[in-house]
Amino acid sequence: MKKLLLFFALFLSFNLLISQEISYDLSMKKPQNHYFNIEMTLKNFSESSLLLKLPTWSPGSYLIREFSKNIDLVTAKDENGKTLKVLKKAKNAWEVVKGKAKEVHVFYNVYAFELSVRTSFLDLTHGFVSGSGVFMYVENQLNRKGTVHIHPYQDFKVVTTALPASNVPNLFEFEDYDQLVDCPIEIGNQTVFNFQAANVNHTVALYGEGNYEVDVLKKDMAKIVTAATAVFGQNPNKNYTFIVHNVVDGQGGLEHCNSTTLSVNRWTYTGSEYLGFLNLVAHEYFHLWNVKRIRPIELGPFDYDKENYTSLLWVMEGFTSYYDELLMLRAGYYSKDEFLSKLQSTVNYVEGSVGSRVQPLAHASFDAWVKAYRPTENSANTSMTYYSRGAMIGALLDAKIIAKYAGEKCLDHFMQKLYADYFVAKKRGFTEVEFKKSLESFLGENLDEFFEKYINGTEIAPLNQVFSPIGLSVKDVTTTKPSFGAALKQEGGKVIVRSIRSNSAAEDAGLSVNDEIIGLNGYRIDQKSMEDFIATVDNGDQFSMLVSRDLHLFEIQASVKNFTKPQFLFQQIKPGDRLLNYWLRTN
Ligand SMILES: [Zn+2]
Repeated sequence: MKKLLLFFALFLSFNLLISQEISYDLSMKKPQNHYFNIEMTLKNFSESSLLLKLPTWSPGSYLIREFSKNIDLVTAKDENGKTLKVLKKAKNAWEVVKGKAKEVHVFYNVYAFELSVRTSFLDLTHGFVSGSGVFMYVENQLNRKGTVHIHPYQDFKVVTTALPASNVPNLFEFEDYDQLVDCPIEIGNQTVFNFQAANVNHTVALYGEGNYEVDVLKKDMAKIVTAATAVFGQNPNKNYTFIVHNVVDGQGGLEHCNSTTLSVNRWTYTGSEYLGFLNLVAHEYFHLWNVKRIRPIELGPFDYDKENYTSLLWVMEGFTSYYDELLMLRAGYYSKDEFLSKLQSTVNYVEGSVGSRVQPLAHASFDAWVKAYRPTENSANTSMTYYSRGAMIGALLDAKIIAKYAGEKCLDHFMQKLYADYFVAKKRGFTEVEFKKSLESFLGENLDEFFEKYINGTEIAPLNQVFSPIGLSVKDVTTTKPSFGAALKQEGGKVIVRSIRSNSAAEDAGLSVNDEIIGLNGYRIDQKSMEDFIATVDNGDQFSMLVSRDLHLFEIQASVKNFTKPQFLFQQIKPGDRLLNYWLRTN
C-alpha cells in the first residue's frame, strides 16, 4: 500500500512536472516593419479550450494602454500542424478551441514602434521588449513557469534581460508570468558593462550613443546602490540589470524587481544633467524595495485586465522621490544646503499650486489612471502630483520620527519595518489601514488628524511645527501679487493661450484655452511683449485684448486682480544641530 502510494505520488509529481508548460519563441524576421513574431507553445493543458489574454497595462505605469491594439491576426495549430479555431472574445482575449490536442502553437505578431520604458520597440538598430505588451497569458494560469527563446535579428549580437539564463544561448526561464513581464529585454548591439556593489552583480546595457564614460558610471552608480542598500541594511537581489536608452527625448524610468529601464537624453552625462541621471538611478533603484517588495496590497499579484486602484501611490512614488534626493545627499552628490534648497523648492511647488487645494493626496493616487497619466489644460487647477506632495509628506514623517526617537531612528527604520512585517513575514502587501496603523505604532502617535488634513484633505502642511524640532525653521513667506493668470505659448506668429488659472483675471475676462491673442490695447503683440506687459500690471488695472477664437475676432476687457501664493523659506536654526546633522548625514 505504501509502495503503491509512493508510486502514485511520484506519478503525480512527474505529471505536474511535465504538465502545462508554456514557452515563447520571439523572433524579428524583418525589424524594419517593427513587428515581433511570437510563437507561444502550450503543452499538456487538459482544458478543451484556452482563453489567451494580453495585459491592458504595464505595472508601474498606471494607465490602461490597450496593448492588444498592436496585435493583428492570431492563429493556432496543434502538434500535427492542424489549424485550431481561434475566436476573439474580448478586446484583449482570444479563445483557442483546442479539443484533445496535446500541444497548442499560437502565432501572432506584435507591432512595436513606441520606444518608452513601458512600451515595446523594434527597428533595424535594436529591439526592446516590455513583456506586458508582447506576451499573452492563459487566463487563470499566471503562476505557470516557462521559457522565452529570443531569436535575434541577424545583425543583433547582444541580448540583455534580468530573466534567469539557461544553458542554451538566448533561452531564458521564468517562474511565473509576473516575473516574465517584470523583466524587459533589450536586443541589439548595446554596450554592456558590469559592476559590483552591495554584494550584487550589476549589469548595465546602454543603447544609443551618448557622452558617458563607463568607468565614471561604474563608480557613481555603485555609490548610489550602496547608499540605497544602506537604508534597508540588505539587498534582496544577487543580480540587477539597468537597461538604458540614450535617445533625444528621454522620459524617465520604470522599476522592476531586479532591473530597471531608463530613458535619458544621450548628452545627459555631464554637469547638472548628470546629477539628474544619478537621481533617476537612485529613484528606480529605491523602487526595488519600495513598491516592488514593500507595496500596497492592490499592487501585486496584479490584475492585468483592468485598473488596479490604490490610494497609496504617495508612499510608493512620493517616498521614493524623497529618497532619491536623500540618496544623492548621502552618496555625496548634494551638499546639505543643496538638499534643503531642493526640498524647499518641492514644498513651494506643491503648496503654491492651485490643484493642491483641490485634490487630496490619496485621491491623486487613486485617480492616477484617469488624471495623472492623462493631463489636460485644466490639470493644474484640479490636481497635484503625488510624487512631489508625497515627497514632502515623506520628509515630514522622517522629521517626526527623528524627533520622536531623538536622532536614534529615522524613516529608514520605518521602511525596514514595513519590509520585515509585510514582504518578509506576511509575504504580501498592506492595506491603507494597515499602513496607517504601522506608522502610528512606529511613531507612538495617533495620525487621524494628520491623515484627515494632509492625506485625505488639502490643507497646507504644518511645516514649521514638524521641522523646527529637528533644527529647521520654516518661515511663511506667502506672497500676494497682481496676476493675470493665463499661460501663453508662441505658435509660429501666433500667441496662443495654453492654460488659465481658476478664478484668475484671465478667466473672469472670458479668455479660453486655445484662444489666439492678437492685440493688446489696440496694438499687435507677440508672446514676449504680452508677458512683459503682464509682469508690470497692478491690482485693478484694466486692459483690452483682441482675440481670435475659431477664426471669429472679438475684443475682451480684463481687470487685473491679486493672487495669493503660499511660499516658504527654509533656514537652519542652528547649524550643527545634532538632529539636523543626523537627518542630513552622509554615508
Ligand atoms: Zn517612481
